Amino acid sequence: MATINDNYLKLKAGYLFPEIARRVNAFAIANPNAPIIKLGIGDVTEPLPQACRTAMKTAVEEMGDRATFKGYGPEQGYGWLREKIAAQDFQKRGCEIDASEIFVSDGAKCDTGNILDIFGKDNTIAVTDPVYPVYVDTNVMAGNTGTANDGGKYGGLVYMPITAENDFTAEIPTEKVDLIYLCFPNNPTGATASKSHLKAWVDYAKANDSIIFFDAAYEAFITDADLPHSIYEIEGARDCAIEFRSFSKNAGFTGTRCAYTVVPKTLTAASADGSDVELWKLWNRRQSTKFNGVSYIVQRGAEAVYSDEGQAQIAQLVGFYLENAKIICDRLTAAGLSVYGGVNAPYVWVKTPNGLTSWDFFDKLLQAANVVGTPGSGFGAAGEGYFRISAFNSRDNVEEAMKRIGDTFKG
Ligand SMILES: *Cc1c(COP(=O)(O)O)cnc(C)c1O
Repeated sequence: MATINDNYLKLKAGYLFPEIARRVNAFAIANPNAPIIKLGIGDVTEPLPQACRTAMKTAVEEMGDRATFKGYGPEQGYGWLREKIAAQDFQKRGCEIDASEIFVSDGAKCDTGNILDIFGKDNTIAVTDPVYPVYVDTNVMAGNTGTANDGGKYGGLVYMPITAENDFTAEIPTEKVDLIYLCFPNNPTGATASKSHLKAWVDYAKANDSIIFFDAAYEAFITDADLPHSIYEIEGARDCAIEFRSFSKNAGFTGTRCAYTVVPKTLTAASADGSDVELWKLWNRRQSTKFNGVSYIVQRGAEAVYSDEGQAQIAQLVGFYLENAKIICDRLTAAGLSVYGGVNAPYVWVKTPNGLTSWDFFDKLLQAANVVGTPGSGFGAAGEGYFRISAFNSRDNVEEAMKRIGDTFKG
């Protein structure tokens, strides 16, 4: 009889977003005229930049002419895109990253999961709590964990709490871990990492032969000149880090699909016989076998992000969401709430008032203000007592939602 990958049975049923939908639907049925505003989503709302659309239209026409038609492209991405990424996202910031170390893909979500293909089964894995759920679930699927306890924590994972007490930056572990997931600017907390914090991680990773998976999907939201955009701004990171980037949040490609992963050629890990193996070679082999590359049309769209016009347009797009985040922070603070993040990041992480649980606060906002956000406890046990509000929305919705929350918490 055919059997399944039993690790999938260890996954907790996707609880967070279905439960939000269930509560919102029940409320909407009971209150059919309630003008519900959703500030819970992690998806962009504003249209694609003109530069990207123009480039993609031209590419579509090229596909219609035998002379310029493209079939299968390189699995790693076209050279002209990899060159621009290496030059503008890394070399311009003083990072020693070569185009050959850039692997263009259809998503940072996919890549953060797929990367486990090239790692062994006996690594000790560290994640933050709260965390972007993909890191945990893909390890469960790969068989790298035990089962979940009642609190939703999986055996075999090292959870590093990130709370207001440590500025939402995990403390460097005292034990030895092999693979470390870091995400800055952070989803869900909106926290950022200073150069000295990243340096502490790089030093730890080098001392312990660990590998850091650095998710920089929100890099474009960094406006503070002192904050690092890439882990490769830290000396030594080429020998201990893989970086994940995406066009989803800076250029609105969540539905268009383009991202990339950086695997430096100097990065190695141990094989069963103890010899060092270059991870670049394994990832290249993995992608060449299991992935066909991103469509030519979409890669031309991504390339346009690096034109002067594209750069100006994504700056405007990111600036729009950051202004939303500022409005959210200002209004919630004025309403007497404690807020974190929302600067250099599109997420505002709110401390629930009066000791309310994350779900209590969710219900209160839904009922009193008809506003939907995301309970922090859904991202991990240490997210209890917090609440995520997303800046990805129209200005009108943000203004209206903040007015209502202000009225709810006044006095
Ligand atoms: C949105 C997001 C991504 C981007 O994922 P894509 O698959 O490229 O759309 C990656 N990491 C985090 C933490 C995110 O929130």
